[in-house]
Amino acid sequence: MKPATFEYHRAYTPDEVVELLDELGEDAKILAGGQSLAPMMNFRLARPSALIDVNTVVGLDYIRREGDQLCVGAMTRHRTVETSTDADVQDGFALLPRAARWIGHYPIRTRGTVGGSIAHSDPTAEWCILARLYDADVVVQGPEGRRTVPSEGWFTGFLSTSIGPSEMVVETRFSRPRPYGALTEYARRRGDFAIAASAVAFDVVDGRCQDVSIVLGGVATEPLRLPEAEAAVEGSVPEDQTWAEAARIAAAAIKKSSDPQDDDRYRRHLVDTLTRRAFDEALVTGPTS
Ligand SMILES: Cc1cc2nc3c(=O)[nH]c(=O)nc-3n(C[C@H](O)[C@H](O)[C@H](O)COP(=O)(O)OP(=O)(O)OC[C@H]3O[C@@H](n4cnc5c(N)ncnc54)[C@H](O)[C@@H]3O)c2cc1C
Repeated sequence: MKPATFEYHRAYTPDEVVELLDELGEDAKILAGGQSLAPMMNFRLARPSALIDVNTVVGLDYIRREGDQLCVGAMTRHRTVETSTDADVQDGFALLPRAARWIGHYPIRTRGTVGGSIAHSDPTAEWCILARLYDADVVVQGPEGRRTVPSEGWFTGFLSTSIGPSEMVVETRFSRPRPYGALTEYARRRGDFAIAASAVAFDVVDGRCQDVSIVLGGVATEPLRLPEAEAAVEGSVPEDQTWAEAARIAAAAIKKSSDPQDDDRYRRHLVDTLTRRAFDEALVTGPTS
């Protein structure tokens, strides 16, 4: 199918994007990599009256370290993160390049952007899961300037965020670097969005797990952080028994779906397996700093 007709605009700076969003109103949409928006327009699930192409915006394609935060510009392509061997990334955030490999197929990763994924906010998207895992801040620019939204308050439901009508995502700041991390997922076909995903990050100090985060993808309307499972691992010895207890709590956190097509038992089983596998993989991959 072809999309409904739309106006096309091109912007060169974030200021221009915000001005255009303000001028064109709520029906206008930003076009970044187009890997989610274009299919939605082709299926007429989205019918924006105007597109603002941000591929010409200069200065939003970067990965840089600011203290403990890894700052990723909105127009940074998935593939740029995937291929990064930068010491700033490897030091505490080495999971990011590894997790990027799970995103779709090669052409999708070369076009899709980190900012687009964070804005689109699919609950299975790797960047959205990692944003919660690493307590990221999302930086948005609007008519009043820039503001920072903690990822905890960013995701507000399925494909829904707390972005304002004339705002654009300019940066995601991943925080809390940890030496151990892994993301595992299961999809029926390679390159598909996952049916379920589990991501973990932690440190090991004096033989005990510390600073633990666990996030599930694909099991709720937004990435699901699991404080109870995290508490079960915190202070424990990094071993199978610890992972099994965290996995049990993670699986139990999955609510019964109202969709009769959705098999909760299967999803719980997947989450249990994926969570144990993520902890195992994190240990095998080893410390990154
Ligand atoms: C076959 C297929 C498989 C895929 N598999 C995966 C997968 O496994 N994992 C995964 O994470 N993704 C997957 N994707 C989606 C892909 O990663 C997209 O690139 C990503 O979701 C959106 O990024 P984009 O740059 O393409 O954004 P676009 O498609 O251009 O935009 C998406 C939405 O975000 C808005 N937007 C974009 N940029 C900004 C911004 N800076 N500020 C505010 N709003 C903005 C747009 O207006 C639009 O509403 C898949 C896509 C396809 C087609």
